[in-house]
Amino acid sequence: MTISRMRHCRSRNLWISRWVVVAFASATALVLAGAGCATSAPGDDPDSGDPEVGTASALSEGFEAGIKTAYAASDVALTTGTWNLNDALIGNSAMDVKTGTKSARIRNNGHVTMQFDRTSGAGTVTIHHASFGSDAAGIWGLFESQNAGATWAQVGTSRSTTSGSFSTATFTVNLSGTIRFEIRKLDNGSNRINVDDIAITDFSGGGGTGGAALSKHTTMGIPAPTSVNDPNAFLSVKSGYVLSYNSGRKVPNWVSWEINPTYLGSAARQDDFRPDDTLPATLPQAQLTDYSGSGFDRGHMCPSADRTVTVAANSQTFYLSNMVPQAANNNRGPWAKLESEARTLVDAGKELFVISGGVFSSSSATIGTGVSVPDKTFKVIVVLDAVGQGPADVTASTRVIAVMMPNANSQISQSDPWQNFRVSVDAIEAVTGDDFLSDVDPAVQSVIEARVDNQ
Ligand code: MN
Ligand code: MN
Repeated sequence: MTISRMRHCRSRNLWISRWVVVAFASATALVLAGAGCATSAPGDDPDSGDPEVGTASALSEGFEAGIKTAYAASDVALTTGTWNLNDALIGNSAMDVKTGTKSARIRNNGHVTMQFDRTSGAGTVTIHHASFGSDAAGIWGLFESQNAGATWAQVGTSRSTTSGSFSTATFTVNLSGTIRFEIRKLDNGSNRINVDDIAITDFSGGGGTGGAALSKHTTMGIPAPTSVNDPNAFLSVKSGYVLSYNSGRKVPNWVSWEINPTYLGSAARQDDFRPDDTLPATLPQAQLTDYSGSGFDRGHMCPSADRTVTVAANSQTFYLSNMVPQAANNNRGPWAKLESEARTLVDAGKELFVISGGVFSSSSATIGTGVSVPDKTFKVIVVLDAVGQGPADVTASTRVIAVMMPNANSQISQSDPWQNFRVSVDAIEAVTGDDFLSDVDPAVQSVIEARVDNQ
């Protein structure tokens, strides 16, 4: 249902085909429809992401070219192609909120549906929305179909329209290939909603997986397919780290973050462990009760002590989506020692990119209501010489520290040095199926991923 283009991991003797999502953050600049000017300023959308990269609009529909004055379902030819409006019409009255002279008006459970496909995928979709006249607030959602409308899936969360002037809803899609969209009113009320200025950006790749375009925290590449449409590889881009969340296991698949002196300050450890309130409510999550009495620690992937520049940054590491059930001898022993070693390298002026997660098998244990316990925990640390360096600065001599640590107290001692658990990146890739450092030149990857750190 998701994802993009085939690429090959050249980093070892076997060639592994992988589907890798190339995701990127939403554009800051909203592209308005060709004619007219906005009648009101778009508001901020609290659901929109952390914009880092601008993209050009690939499609922009403002409903200016069509005539449809009745609510009954029928097709209408617009600038971008044919759309079907069902319990919806093209409004041009004084009560229609619009850019230019027209916008779409939807009532009941009406739909506004593309009757054509885009073939260049979709990165983001932005839509202006407002209540018609003085109508009551309404609920609506964006849906996508990759099979010409045979089946549909909702994109992101449902949105509320509460204002009589336009707000901007931004949806992160990041799907490649054939795709079309439908806007559905979901509250079935007689209240009416205006939508206008539908802008769809192309799905964009570039080199590697486009990790840097998604977030600075995935600068070395996106380790495995992830999207906001996959409940078992749900993409969550946070200010402090990026994670792929697995709602079947209720733990992350991987967490990726940058660390350099700008992340280190004097904020106190917040200890506010809690479910991740930024994930959709429909995604099953671990609860505090799942861990209590389980015998396992709530093991941070991105450590609390890596995020001390503000209270908010530290608090963000206490989402349970950033945790796995971790054996105490692992978490409080060699794992903690390696976390500390990483910060020592930062104190020495290094720039680090870190990826961490669990290794699972069909026999992995669970705690509580189905929170999977990893058999091992892994970590990959790329050590760059100067703050601000990225994949282009990684050479065959760049230090990469990779470890896999048993996640059972019987197999690891708190007094063990972290160095006892060093492995190659290739070894972690082999058991997880991930492709780490995928935005690093493949010839360089093949060298640094085969080597075991010995410094
Ligand atoms: Mn820990
Ligand atoms: Mn790799």
